[in-house]
Amino acid sequence: MEILLKCLVTGGIGFIGFNLCRKLIESHEVIALDNFNAYYDVKLKEMNKEDLVQKGIKVIKEDILNYEKVKRITKDIDIIFHLAAQPGVRYSLAHPLEVFKTNVDGTLNILECARKNKISRFIFASSSSVYGNSTELPLKEDSEVHPIAPYGLSKLVCENYIHFYYKHYNLPTVIFRLFSVVGERQRPDMGIYKFIINLLRDTPLTIFGDGTQTRDWCNVKNVVDAFIKAIDNPKIIGETLNIGHGERISVNKIIEIIENFIGKRAKRLYTKRNEADMLHTQADLSKITKLLNYQPKYSIEEGIKSEIEFIQRNLEKFS
Ligand code: NAD
Repeated sequence: MEILLKCLVTGGIGFIGFNLCRKLIESHEVIALDNFNAYYDVKLKEMNKEDLVQKGIKVIKEDILNYEKVKRITKDIDIIFHLAAQPGVRYSLAHPLEVFKTNVDGTLNILECARKNKISRFIFASSSSVYGNSTELPLKEDSEVHPIAPYGLSKLVCENYIHFYYKHYNLPTVIFRLFSVVGERQRPDMGIYKFIINLLRDTPLTIFGDGTQTRDWCNVKNVVDAFIKAIDNPKIIGETLNIGHGERISVNKIIEIIENFIGKRAKRLYTKRNEADMLHTQADLSKITKLLNYQPKYSIEEGIKSEIEFIQRNLEKFS
């Protein structure tokens, strides 16, 4: 029989945190910690909270920067999934101080709480942004890292602290480098969300660059699977692992997929590419396949479809 563990998910009412919490609760006790910040429509966060509470998840409104409070909250926690962060590559160019504070100071606080409270596993959501404009594709965990925006830089600093805590304090850590995640409750600042909502409202779609840039999009359900597998796998302690789908799809192709699901053609406005955006990403999945027996079971199309259906159901509620 599986042992019931007490899990804390920071950023638990955000996009990936929500999806992780609602799966985790099937086999563990779950607390979601989040400060409900207004980076995007708080109505979506409130909706996530209500749905999680209904499933028996305890939701705590708290800031990861509040060390004393978080230390108390993590006192008898077994596993910490640390997802709270200030995301957004372009946003980070305009707000480098805020991004450093939330991502680096915040992560250090959680790490220190994990150490003091002798947490049995600390699992971190890092990002493919740490690779920056690495030309070597697919990207391997030991590829060179050259972040091109404060967001990727902040995640790289976090990774270095996490390595230090693993090496120096023997904290059992796992770092996941997530590629572009798609699925229900996606962040409204992300391209796919904007494409869907604009197409549903017959508003033109803005595309940065010519749309030939490619991403390794990954269904959020695959990300959740990997996070849950990481709870008790001894081989991945101290490791850094990519999570993606392992293939590249262009932004233009993604728009076509959305158009086909919705049954409408979009008016596309192509504008200048943003210098903080990576040109191409693709994850090499050999390490995570070998160590965690990871297989991306859920398709990108399915992730996009469930996102479209969620937005369609709630179109009136969102700005
Ligand atoms: P999200 O913004 O939906 O979720 C993050 C949550 O953290 C939000 O609910 C926010 O309110 C909370 N938060 C922010 N600052 C906080 C603070 N100081 N204290 C407490 N809570 C705070 O983002 P997401 O897309 O779900 O991303 C989750 C994690 O995965 C982040 O660490 C992100 O950097 C990482 N990641 C996401 C993607 C992706 O494609 N979505 C890709 C790579 C990495």
